[in-house]
Amino acid sequence: MATTSLDLAKVRNIGIMAHIDAGKTTTTERILYYTGLSYKIGEVHDGAATTDWMEQERERGITITSAAVTCHWSLNDVQNTINIIDTPGHVDFTVEVERSLRVLDGAVTVFDGVAGVEPQSETVWRQANRYGVPRICFVNKLDRTGADFFRCVDMIVERLNAQPLVMQLPIGAEAGFKGVVDLVRMKALVWSEDTKLGEMYDTVDIPEDLQAQAEEWRAKLVEGVAENDEEIMELYLEGTEPTEEQLYAAIRRVTLASTGTDASTVTPVFCGTAFKNKGVQPLLDAVVRYLPSPLDVEAIEGQAVRNPDEVIKRKPSEEEPLAALAFKIASDPHLGKLTFIRIYSGVLTAGAQVQNSVKEKKERIGKIYRMHANKREEIERVGAGDIVAVMGLKQTTTGETLCDPANPVILESMDFPAPVIEVA
Ligand code: GDP
Repeated sequence: MATTSLDLAKVRNIGIMAHIDAGKTTTTERILYYTGLSYKIGEVHDGAATTDWMEQERERGITITSAAVTCHWSLNDVQNTINIIDTPGHVDFTVEVERSLRVLDGAVTVFDGVAGVEPQSETVWRQANRYGVPRICFVNKLDRTGADFFRCVDMIVERLNAQPLVMQLPIGAEAGFKGVVDLVRMKALVWSEDTKLGEMYDTVDIPEDLQAQAEEWRAKLVEGVAENDEEIMELYLEGTEPTEEQLYAAIRRVTLASTGTDASTVTPVFCGTAFKNKGVQPLLDAVVRYLPSPLDVEAIEGQAVRNPDEVIKRKPSEEEPLAALAFKIASDPHLGKLTFIRIYSGVLTAGAQVQNSVKEKKERIGKIYRMHANKREEIERVGAGDIVAVMGLKQTTTGETLCDPANPVILESMDFPAPVIEVA
């Protein structure tokens, strides 16, 4: 059984948000597929069609619809853990939506490349703004007739009042869409015509007919970053081109800093077609590169039991007392009742007695599971920053805090969520 602590800097707790039909499910499926491949390094893969793969995984009890699913993605030979939290696709500010936004640290917003920004894209965008969730964008379905990446980018400006950092340019359009220009590396990533799942793309020189456009957009990208980042601004004023590493780091800083609720959100924008398996691997790289780790949130604020005015802060550290939030209760066909929790501080071990600070009752933790796409992994111990499912909780409902009995805290106030006044 796994007992090692996670290196929090290598954890990403993310949600995928979209207007219905934009491709959230397909993108999630592809993410689980590609991450599954990267995790099972050494196994032989037959390049099965995705649909077959999904069928097989379903038979084995795939947990794509799970409240949280864990996968792993290697970037530059460093393995990262990505927990994908299901964000319900409701159109309004429900407690459930808000709660899922609260337990994630970053998000991917998926757009339909034909429809662009749609009404529910605006809704989820505002919800993410309200919770200060840093996010990256994926303009999907570029293979469809009528798809227009740049129109979607314009809509992100006009309808979402955001500042997109265009990170890629599409190569080819509609049925001829075959790859992207990576504007940081100034390289073309090209998928073969009949891309099978699991195949990487070829990294080649930018096609000649796109060279001028790529240079123009690269300049815009550097300018956009410079406007929001002093280090790049200094280089820009000196007329020095930033290195790849400098740009990666600056785009991360800018994305993470852009969590103000009223400020226009700076957001890196990527593109592809999840359905045709183009663009998802660079998107995963971007999740790791640009979205926050639990360590990027300095501390979560809770309140003292029976004294809502006393603020208690908990840092994302195993050294702190346990504080975890139950965010979803699910019924698993094999295991029965599962409570999904996010640990904010401290350590939780199987069999431990914890305090439900809202009900002021003790609870015994049963088994702890990490849910993967195709299996459940039982773990003995889980630390700050992580998301898992636990068995055995009898009284805890969603929104309640589980904590160290000697150091109680309430993470989600009883009057949550605060009323929202929507301005049309
Ligand atoms: P969700 O409602 O956002 O979860 O959207 P789905 O992932 O279920 O996708 C909605 C429909 O669009 C499905 O029929 C998908 O097969 C299709 N779809 C998803 N991604 C793409 C894409 O990149 N290209 C095309 N042509 N269709 C896609």
